[in-house]
Amino acid sequence: MSGMSINHVTPDPYLGPMLCLACGVCESNQTTPLRLCKKCGHSLRPAPARRLPSGLRVSAAFAHEGAARHLVHRLKYDAVAGIAKKLAEAMAPLIPPDALVLVPVPRSGVRRMHYGVDQSVLLAMGLSQIAGLRTSRSLRAPVWRVPHAGHGRKARRANRFRQRAEPNLEGILLIDDVLTTGTTLGSAAQAAGRGVIGCLTFTMSVSAGRPTEDAKVPIRPA
Ligand SMILES: [Zn+2]
Repeated sequence: MSGMSINHVTPDPYLGPMLCLACGVCESNQTTPLRLCKKCGHSLRPAPARRLPSGLRVSAAFAHEGAARHLVHRLKYDAVAGIAKKLAEAMAPLIPPDALVLVPVPRSGVRRMHYGVDQSVLLAMGLSQIAGLRTSRSLRAPVWRVPHAGHGRKARRANRFRQRAEPNLEGILLIDDVLTTGTTLGSAAQAAGRGVIGCLTFTMSVSAGRPTEDAKVPIRPA
């Protein structure tokens, strides 16, 4: 018998040595940390840190456009779970120094079952490995979450998160794949409690929230 262990997992074909992680077609430029082809690499734009109306500070690796947007879609809709580690590598330099525990903003139960992946959990696990911080799955998502449902009472009720464990955590950094309107993150932060120090996403829509005072300072190391 071969020495293959029971834990052996067939490598994801899209993570082969020469293919761009975003388009999966072109030859990747191995010098970029995300292993993108030239065209996809050029489409990446940094996203300045933003503050939601609640005061929650959100940092993201990239603006939600081009290859960055495509990578998020491949992770959450194509369930290419192997991509999560690479996205986490791009996010890791933005972890604030006062973060003590990573709490993923969970996907709704219906979507998790439909797509077979919870992208924020995978990102938090990747970040945990890189940064040595522990994760806590202390938030429970609604069974069904209405995306972009607005700020009305009905939408808030439909999109409500609940705390299911560890109510007194300190230094919580919420982890999600993308910041769009901020409604989801706002709800998650409310449920997570007073220990939340901020939120880190892979991409963000530049129309969400408002830039922080230090938005002009580069948020990614050169
Ligand atoms: Zn590409």
